[in-house]
Amino acid sequence: HTIYLNTSVISEFRGYERVRTAFEQATGARMGSTDISGTFGLFPTACIGLSDQEPAALIDFYPFTNLNVVRVKEIIQQIREGIHPAEICDHPADHIRFTPPDGKSVFFTPYLRGNGIRRALKIGRQAIIEEIKIAGLSGRGGAFFPTWKKWDACRSFTSDPKVIICNADEGEPGTFKDRVLLNKQAGSVIEGMIIAAFAVGATYGMIYLRGEYQWLLNHLEDELVAFREAGLLGKNIAGTDGFDFDIRIELGAGAYVCGEETALLESMEGRRGEPRTKWFYPVERGYLQLPTVVNNVETFAAACRILEMGSGEYCKRGIPSSPGTKIISVAGDCQKPGIYEIEYGTSVGELLDMSMAIDPLFIQVSGPSGETLTTTDRDRIFIPRSINPEREIRCGGSLMVFSKERDILQIIMNFNAFFKHESCGVCTPCRAGNFIIQRKLEKLRSGLADHHDLHELKSWTHIMRKSSRCGLGKTAGNPVLTALEKFGEYFEGTYGAYH
Ligand code: SF4
Repeated sequence: HTIYLNTSVISEFRGYERVRTAFEQATGARMGSTDISGTFGLFPTACIGLSDQEPAALIDFYPFTNLNVVRVKEIIQQIREGIHPAEICDHPADHIRFTPPDGKSVFFTPYLRGNGIRRALKIGRQAIIEEIKIAGLSGRGGAFFPTWKKWDACRSFTSDPKVIICNADEGEPGTFKDRVLLNKQAGSVIEGMIIAAFAVGATYGMIYLRGEYQWLLNHLEDELVAFREAGLLGKNIAGTDGFDFDIRIELGAGAYVCGEETALLESMEGRRGEPRTKWFYPVERGYLQLPTVVNNVETFAAACRILEMGSGEYCKRGIPSSPGTKIISVAGDCQKPGIYEIEYGTSVGELLDMSMAIDPLFIQVSGPSGETLTTTDRDRIFIPRSINPEREIRCGGSLMVFSKERDILQIIMNFNAFFKHESCGVCTPCRAGNFIIQRKLEKLRSGLADHHDLHELKSWTHIMRKSSRCGLGKTAGNPVLTALEKFGEYFEGTYGAYH
């Protein structure tokens, strides 16, 4: 039996050490190895998409949440007695804490299979793309590239066949919105893919599901079967003459970098998941060099709902410059961790209050690769395309809250360890830079860092940003840089090295 115990910083703050020791004692395996009989293997792993229910682990890829010492002993005892982990695993709770009032929720309203597809077929390809454009939908994985441009570009290429890929490789620590969407609203995600296929003229679809979510696999397969039985997947969809499209699911193998769309394509083609140099965008040459649309889970779900309700209705949400709603997963030091569907224009402070944040000080949006905020950022509002960074903020889908009591250096060291581990190593600035940052942070912790070290820390983050091939290396230094900028006094007071 393979046990993957989550090492995210939220897990660390909620009892990771105690739970790890309990696993080691109960199984006889030291972290990173198997026990002497080979019955149990115990390994650390980065965020597994359960930040609202930490400490959490996967045992033979079945989820176990809110772990404590007693529960760990029970689980291992039951497995030793011959009970399969599938019989005793937890079913992670989907805490949907907030949706916009007055029926304005986009994602969590009752879903009727096929309504979006039927309207899409009726209005035609050009009008679908126009609807997506008017709604201002942009990539919800965090890049916020306009969805209509991607679809329109793919449509314009004449090579055949074309491919639609749903990026369900949600690996950014602290983010679990796609897990909840796939669990509760899988139909809208699949329907969004079918609408995209019709708009661009694609015949093949794939969902790239992160390995850590394989406990959702059967549920998704059942949904696909339901679509086929309803005549909404397969040949001549919805009674058309010639719109053929089907979807299969491909499992990832646990690499964060495969969330980057070109690394994802490499992985799907059976190669090592390394980002491509972008001579061509996937819309022109993607999967097997075919025109390919890669969109995030939430983007497809939103596209389905926009087609279902019409862009006019959708635009009644949010603010005029940024219509619509966004799903944000909130975790950490707050009384109500879970999913918040907020209208664009909602402020950071409002979200902190809704989630009942406890003495927030260090606030991380969009995961470790995102931006670090503090209490002075309460009035900044969430919008998809930030023009004025003083007032606005883009959020890929997560907000991690850390209270005044937390050790800021521990947080950024955890983030750095994550990037160091997940770097694919293909380019030097990222491969070496993350190691160097780790050494410097260790020196800072030991109280031996001087100005020269701090200067080098900053320099390396700039070098990585300018010269790394993909977003991982470009953003890996963000938490260090912003922590040093925003919490200079803290470092000075605690470690005596920052001036
Ligand atoms: Fe790989 Fe890092 Fe380079 Fe991205 S930046 S390609 S993760 S080494």
